[in-house]
Amino acid sequence: MSCKIALVGNPNSGKTTLFNVLTGANQSVGNWPGVTVEKKEGKLKSNKEISIIDLPGIYSLSPYTLEEVVSRNYLLNEKPDCMINIVDGTNLERNLYLTTQLIELSIPVVVAVNMMDIVQKNGDIIETKKLEEAFGCPFVEISAMKSNGIDNLLNKVIQVAKKKGEKRVAIFNDSVERILAQIESSLEGKVPVNEERWYAIKLFERDEKVLSNIKIEKNILAKVEALTQELEKELDDDSESIITNERYHYITTAIKDSYVKKNREQLTLSDKIDRIVTNRILALPIFAAVMFIVYYISVTTVGTILTDFTNDTLFAEWIIPGVSGFLESINTAEWLQGLLVDGIVGGVGAVLGFVPQIFVLFILLAILEECGYMARVAFVLDRIFCRFGLSGKSFIPMLISTGCGIPGVLASRTIENERDRRITIMTTTFMPCGAKLPIIALIAGALFGGQWWVAPSAYFVGILAIIISGIMLKKTKPFRGKPSPFVMELPAYHAPLPSAVLRSMWERGWSFMKKAGTIILLSAIFIWFASGYGFVNGSFGAVEEYESSILGYIGAAIAWIFSPLGFGNAKAAVATFLGLVAKENVVTTFGILYGYTEVTENGMEIWSLLQADYSALAGYSFLVFNLLCAPCFAAIGAIHREMNSGKWTWFAILYQTGFAYVVALMIYQFGMLFTGNENVIGLVFAFIFAFIILFMLFKPYKEVHTLKTDVKM
Ligand code: GDP
Ligand code: MG
Repeated sequence: MSCKIALVGNPNSGKTTLFNVLTGANQSVGNWPGVTVEKKEGKLKSNKEISIIDLPGIYSLSPYTLEEVVSRNYLLNEKPDCMINIVDGTNLERNLYLTTQLIELSIPVVVAVNMMDIVQKNGDIIETKKLEEAFGCPFVEISAMKSNGIDNLLNKVIQVAKKKGEKRVAIFNDSVERILAQIESSLEGKVPVNEERWYAIKLFERDEKVLSNIKIEKNILAKVEALTQELEKELDDDSESIITNERYHYITTAIKDSYVKKNREQLTLSDKIDRIVTNRILALPIFAAVMFIVYYISVTTVGTILTDFTNDTLFAEWIIPGVSGFLESINTAEWLQGLLVDGIVGGVGAVLGFVPQIFVLFILLAILEECGYMARVAFVLDRIFCRFGLSGKSFIPMLISTGCGIPGVLASRTIENERDRRITIMTTTFMPCGAKLPIIALIAGALFGGQWWVAPSAYFVGILAIIISGIMLKKTKPFRGKPSPFVMELPAYHAPLPSAVLRSMWERGWSFMKKAGTIILLSAIFIWFASGYGFVNGSFGAVEEYESSILGYIGAAIAWIFSPLGFGNAKAAVATFLGLVAKENVVTTFGILYGYTEVTENGMEIWSLLQADYSALAGYSFLVFNLLCAPCFAAIGAIHREMNSGKWTWFAILYQTGFAYVVALMIYQFGMLFTGNENVIGLVFAFIFAFIILFMLFKPYKEVHTLKTDVKM
C-alpha cells in the first residue's frame, strides 16, 4: 500500500529536521521561515512505500502568503493519507493555532510535539492525553534532533491513516457552531463528503480563494451571507475575527490544564543570551564583531594558512612542475602544454587555490546558522530595516546570498509585497557570495598584504549597499509604500549538530567545485586562447604580446570606461567583463594573464605583478565594483525568472552596475585626494554623486510609515 504523509507546521518547528530523520535525506536546515517555499518529497527510510512531503512552514491556512497557498493547495488537492502536524513544544500556544485549522480538513492528523528535549530540560510537563481529548487526534512527544519518539510517531501515523473520517471536535462557541452547522447542511452534496465543515468555515470567513475553487449556486451563497451577517451582528465583530478569536480562546483553555510550567519566572539560558544578543544597543556591534571574526578567520588567518599551502606548495611545488615535467617528458606539442599548464592549471588553479578559504567561511556560516544565531540577526536587522521602511524579510535572502546569490534571489519569493520583493531581488546579490570570495582574498592578499580589515569590509560594503539602495529606491515612485510585517519564531539556541554543519558546508562548497570543473574550465580555455591568439599583419595566429591578442583588443576598447575608477587597464577591464559569466572568472583571468603558473624563488609571481599594475586604492575600487555590479549570468537568469519581466530585469542590472560604478568612482576619486588628485572632472562627478546619494538618504518619505513590527519572541 503506497501512502503519502505530509509534514505541516510553523516555520522553525523542526519539519526539515524530522524530514531528514524519517527519510535519511540531506536537506539543509535553514533557521528562518521561507527557505522551504517549495515542497520536498522523500521516501520513508524503513518503508519505501511511504512518501514524506516536507511542506513550507506556515502559521495558518489562510491564503495570505505564498507558503500558505502552497501548503494549503497541496493539502486540499493532493489529499495526503495523513498529516504530521509538527509543533514546537516550547511554544505550544502559538503552534496549536494551525492545529485547530488542520483538524477541520478531512485528512487524519497526528500532532508531533517536537523539541521535547528542551521542554524536559526546562522541567515542564505536557499532558498529551488532555490535548488529545481537546483536539480529537493523537499527540506524540518527539525530539526530531535527538531522534527520540520517532517510532512511536510512525506507529500512530499508520494507525490513523487507516481509519479516515474521525469525528471532529467542536472548537467554537455554541452560536458559531450553530451557524456553521446550518451552512454545512446547505453545502451537502456540493462539496466532497467530509469536507463540509472546512468549506463552511471558509465560506463563513468569506475566503475568496476557496470560493473561486468550488461551484455553488447564487441562492446558497446568499443564504450563507445572510447567516454570516446575522452572527456578525450578534457578536459585533467581523466573521474572520470571530473565527480567529474563537480559535485562540479554545487553545488557551486547552493549554491551561495540559501544560505544566515548572518555573514560570525564571529565564532560560536562551532567554538570557537573547537579552544581550538582541539588545537594542548591543545587537548591532555584536553582529558586526561576529561577522568580522568570521571573515577574519576565513580569509585572513586560518584560511590563509591553508590557501598559502595550496598555492605555494601544492600548486607551485607539486602540481605545476609535475604537470609541466610530465608533458615535456612525453614531448607534448608546445601549444598544448601552454593550454594545459598556463590555461587550465593557471586559470582553474587560481580559483581552486581559494577553496580552503571558501570552505572555512562556509563552515563558520553554517555553525552560526545551525546554533540559532542567524535567526537572531534576522530579528535584529528587521527592527532596523523597518525603521527605513524596508521589509525585514529582505534579510533572509541576504543571508542566503552569502553562499550564492541564486537561492538568495529565489528566497525573495516569500515577501508578499511586490515592491519590497523587487527591491530585495535587485539588491540581494550585493552580498559577497562564495564566488566573489577569491576576488576579495586575492586583492586583500596581493595589494593589501593581508591587512586585517580588508576582507570583513567587503561584507559590510555589501550590507551597506543593500540598506542605502533600499532607502533610496523606497523613495522613488515604483517602490513607495508600507513594508510588510515580518513574523518569526526564535528557536532556542543549541549546540550545532556536526552532521548538519558539514552538510551545509558541503552543499555550498560542492557547487563551487562543480562550477570549477565546468564553466570555469571552459572559460579558462577560452581566456587562454583569446589572450594568446590574435591578428598580426592581417593573419591569425599565436601572438607574443597580450596587447595584440583578441582579449587585449577587447580590453583596450573597454578599459577607458574604468579609468575614472582607477583600473582602466586592459587586463582588469577584461577580468571584470568575464566576471559576468561567473565571478570566479575575475581570478581565472588574472591567473592566466598574470601567469599564475610562473613560480619564482619568492613563491608565486602573480602578486608582485599585480602590485606593479595596481595601487591598493585602485585595487579596492576594483574589488568594490566587482562586488556590487551585475551578478553572474546564472544569477541574472534567476533575477529574470523572479521578476518575470524583461524590463525589470534590465532595470535591476543597470541599477546594480550603475550603483557599483558610482560607489567605486567615489572611493577612487576621494581616495586620490590624499595622494594628490589630478583628475578634476572625476572629482567633480564624485562630489555630484555623493551629493545625490546624501540627498536621497535624507529626503523625507512621502508617506508616514507605521514603524510597528510584528515580531514575537
Ligand atoms: P523547519 O523550519 O520547520 O523546517 O525547522 P528546522 O527543521 O529547520 O528546525 C529549526 C531549528 O530547530 C533547527 O535549528 C533545528 O536544529 C532545531 N530543532 C529541530 N528539532 C529539534 C529538537 O527536537 N530539539 C531541539 N533542541 N532543536 C530542534
Ligand atoms: Mg524547513
